[in-house]
Amino acid sequence: MSTKVEVTKELLFEKVKTYINEQNSLKMIEKAYDFASDKHKNQFRKSGEPYFNHALNVAYILANLQAGPQTICGGLLHDTMEDCGVSYDEIKKEFDEEVAKLVEGVSKIGSLKFQDEKEYLAANHRKIFIAMAKDVRVIIIKLSDRLHNMRTLMYHTEEKQKKIASETLNVYAPIAHRLGLAEMKNELEDLAFMYTDYEKYHEIANLLEAKKSEREEVIKQMIVDIDKLLSDKKLVYRIFGRSKHIYSIYRKMERKNRSFEEIYDLYAIRVITQTELNCYEILGHIHNKYRPVPNRLKDYIAVPKPNMYQSLHTSILDNNGHLFEVQIRTEKMNDIAEMGVAAHWAYKEGKYNSKAEQKEIENKLSWFHDMIGLLDDLEQDHPTDLVDKIQKDIFEANVYAMTPKGRVIELPNGSTPLDFAYRVHTEIGHTAVGAIVNGAHVPLNTVLNTGDVVNIRTNKNTGPSEDWLKIVKSATARNKIKSYLMKKENELRVETIEKGEKLFAEELKKRNLDEKIYFDKNKLESIYKEFSSNNYNEFMYAVGNKSISLQQAVDKLSNTKGQNLDNEALTKLFQQRMQNKPRTISAAGVVVEGIDSMMVNIAGCCMPVNGDEIVGFITRGQGIKVHRTECPNIANEKNRLIEVKWDSDGDYQYDSWLRIDATDRNYLISDIITLISQFKISLNGINSEVLPDRINVYIDIKIKVKNLDQLTNVMANLKKINSVVNVTRIIR
Ligand code: MN
Repeated sequence: MSTKVEVTKELLFEKVKTYINEQNSLKMIEKAYDFASDKHKNQFRKSGEPYFNHALNVAYILANLQAGPQTICGGLLHDTMEDCGVSYDEIKKEFDEEVAKLVEGVSKIGSLKFQDEKEYLAANHRKIFIAMAKDVRVIIIKLSDRLHNMRTLMYHTEEKQKKIASETLNVYAPIAHRLGLAEMKNELEDLAFMYTDYEKYHEIANLLEAKKSEREEVIKQMIVDIDKLLSDKKLVYRIFGRSKHIYSIYRKMERKNRSFEEIYDLYAIRVITQTELNCYEILGHIHNKYRPVPNRLKDYIAVPKPNMYQSLHTSILDNNGHLFEVQIRTEKMNDIAEMGVAAHWAYKEGKYNSKAEQKEIENKLSWFHDMIGLLDDLEQDHPTDLVDKIQKDIFEANVYAMTPKGRVIELPNGSTPLDFAYRVHTEIGHTAVGAIVNGAHVPLNTVLNTGDVVNIRTNKNTGPSEDWLKIVKSATARNKIKSYLMKKENELRVETIEKGEKLFAEELKKRNLDEKIYFDKNKLESIYKEFSSNNYNEFMYAVGNKSISLQQAVDKLSNTKGQNLDNEALTKLFQQRMQNKPRTISAAGVVVEGIDSMMVNIAGCCMPVNGDEIVGFITRGQGIKVHRTECPNIANEKNRLIEVKWDSDGDYQYDSWLRIDATDRNYLISDIITLISQFKISLNGINSEVLPDRINVYIDIKIKVKNLDQLTNVMANLKKINSVVNVTRIIR
């Protein structure tokens, strides 16, 4: 994309004919040339040259990107609606609807006016996204228009130069970057930088110039050496040095707070070869000879950047200690690296119509795809015109940030990387320790903006803290942190209770008191209240965290301050008490009318719980087994069934086996366990098996529940867990 060429009709057509041969297409472009040149005939630019030269240059930039015929026409005609009053219908009649739509799209972007600078930038940013959602070609025409305006910016007043240049840096260059138009982005940035900071620009430009020959020498030597290294390897490749553009050197100096020399020390070469495999082969040979710098190898072939960029990056040291950045990629990857979207969209005659062409680009840009989805929603909610939509946009309550792979994450305004992390995945949220936003490390409480690319750093050994509740903005993240903290607290509680039990047992042993007698829940019950505890667990928790004096408690229990108790006497007392308790109901909480001496047990096959419809089965020698009425094991045993019912007052616990059918994913079991622990019920067994299809899994869990209501509730909540397909009670 040369800046100094005088573009003529001949030059444009020479370029266009390198990839467009269809006569109809060429005729349409010629017609657009004549039409626009006629419409602009009495208009002149600030430079004094005919206005049409601008349109011609824009078309030429597009031709260099191998744009299709309609897009070239769009470039030639892009200012005719706004500056010459040509109507949509006229363009549609003279050319076709698509060309008319492209010109209209470009005009709409150019015609919106905003009050102040900040509002202007924010609105423009999203406005362009919206325009893109209609047709990505509109944006490429607009970028080409801006590029030519930047190339000819010297004719404007200083104030206007600064305004346009800063808008180019803030709005246009980032979009060119998003679309992978690296060459265009670099030129836009360098041109704009020259106007926003004239001194700094020339300082760096002069330093670059002064060191040019020395630098070229070092690079030349490396190229010769690598050539030698690869010469007998039967590889087809080309290799060249590359220079960094001025603005990126400046940005690096600012961001890393380094001097020009430190940044400039980086030498850069690029190897272009035929196949992916060749890329890895060449990397291997280079690493074999030169020492690679640790952690600098980036494989963007396996994991492309969101803008479709692919390449291998590595850094090596030559024998004189020069640091080299090496990029290795195929020709195709190189085209994409330089032309981005346009490389895919490069016009292929006869093979694509423009619709299919656009579809292909969109499919490749995953973030673009997501953005369209978001905008479609916006459109349905507010069927107003473009301007209104944008106005609303400025005040709207959402930001849209992206993962490094280009997935768009919608968050409430004011959200932080922590909200982002939880939205991506609960586990990523729980283990987040820091974030890289647009390439820079930031704290977790940084407020995110639309368009930010966010990479969350995690560490498995850390977890959420109370402070995080102050950092997050979204309700989902808040809830996830709260439930994590609750679970932790619960775990701590169980630990403390166990510690209390241990301390208690030790104290009994020390006093030579029999554990079997004193460490009995019923017996302990008599002293809970005196220590303001309501139950066994509360009491042991208090012992565990030492808010109850262990001495006093054991004293109370033994009724003899500091003295040992007569074990035998107490055993008798205790046994008497137990015998006096009337026992009319079985241990299982089942009442069998008229028979109270018989053994009554819960059947192990269908495992009824209080609330189930039940029936007793009279076994030979094992008393009565209580089954669910639907249990298939007793279906043919009518003669041996007996009516039984649940005791309504009892406080019993029932075992139950559940089968959870799910599609397999990470952390599924951990999510299940978390849920069970939130219900504060005990989990006594777990089996799981991944089915032969390697997609589905079943997980059997054994839990203890009070009654059918609780069981039904747990099952309903298990079903809500992500990827769980079904939850059933097991009958064996
Ligand atoms: Mn223009």
